Amino acid sequence: KRKPAVGLQPEGDVDWSAYRGVMVVLEQRRGKVAKVSWQLLGESRRLADKLDAPLMALVIGHDVEDIARQAIGYGAERVYLCDAPELADYRTRPYSRVCLHVIRTVKPEIVLFGATYTGRDLAGAIATHLPTGLTADCTQLDVDDNRLLLASRPAFSEKMVATILCKQFKPQMATVRPGVFQALPFDERRMGEIIRVTPPLDPGSIRTEVLGFVEAVNRVNLEDADVIVAGGRGVGGKAGFELLAQLAAALGGQVGASRAAVDLGWISHDHQVGQTGTTVRPKVYIAAGISGAVQHVVGMQNAELIVSVNKDPDAPIHQIAHYAIVGDLFEVIPALTEAVRAA
Ligand code: FAD
Repeated sequence: KRKPAVGLQPEGDVDWSAYRGVMVVLEQRRGKVAKVSWQLLGESRRLADKLDAPLMALVIGHDVEDIARQAIGYGAERVYLCDAPELADYRTRPYSRVCLHVIRTVKPEIVLFGATYTGRDLAGAIATHLPTGLTADCTQLDVDDNRLLLASRPAFSEKMVATILCKQFKPQMATVRPGVFQALPFDERRMGEIIRVTPPLDPGSIRTEVLGFVEAVNRVNLEDADVIVAGGRGVGGKAGFELLAQLAAALGGQVGASRAAVDLGWISHDHQVGQTGTTVRPKVYIAAGISGAVQHVVGMQNAELIVSVNKDPDAPIHQIAHYAIVGDLFEVIPALTEAVRAA
């Protein structure tokens, strides 16, 4: 028999003004922080300054004190650290318990998560226990004069952007797509405070056990890649993607793809960049045989350096590229690979 979710209706008059500050729930796995966490701290620094309120981070895990220190270097001024052996691996229930405990005690007015598999799971689980809403998959954030979070997200197949407000309740919560914001440069001179949180967990409340951890073979991780060599319909088939893989390997990067290439079965969907794929923000994005349709561009336009390789001089991708190479990718890509290997 399911119990009703706790706290969905706040009891009596709640003093929402007690809620202050922006909190980013950092995501880490085995000590490696998801880039979106630092990106969220970067954008949240701006929001917190606008609100004249503290920027806080929440770090959950085991042996993660170093991550708490890094969070200060990336802009947080107060870091809540919940470090315990039973929190070594992500599990919805213990992690959401910790988050709820910290949110209820610290009372941040805004709480943000990365829109990753873990962030989406955690934020959704928490939202069901709070008298508030959750705006998922945001691509823009701002705050207005009434301290309301303006959480914007694409709607109707990216044809419009909807700005969603949570007017009555706190905290205002959102998940944010990786790659849309920029992290602040890491600065170890930044000052901040680390506050330890005792995990509010009794052993009986944890109902799952992690038996082992197996790293996926050839796992594609476009979100965290510094270099992406992406191919589209112009690549012509699986053999063409082999050429791109060689350049990606020479550059220490990953292979991306347009939806056309994925739909043709030349490469799996986890390589797809764009509206219905992954949003990326690498240092270098090489687009080969990709025309530059808007649904592709929304997923890669924030790359620091874009190189297009397309034989059509009028292909739209050349308009957003920093370096536009008009030519046949079957000549250009092997030549680039040679040059990188020789460098
Ligand atoms: P094309 O548009 O066919 O372009 C191929 C390009 O290759 C051409 O510009 C051509 O000049 C060039 N070319 C050909 N041969 C060579 C050669 N030898 N050397 C150099 N250049 C060559 N698309 C995505 O990518 N990601 C998404 O997430 C996505 N989501 C979508 C969601 C919706 C709701 C819809 C409607 C569409 C979506 N699309 C998405 C599809 C998108 O609209 C385009 O159809 C797709 O991006 C086109 O892929 P492409 O650039 O590889 O192919």
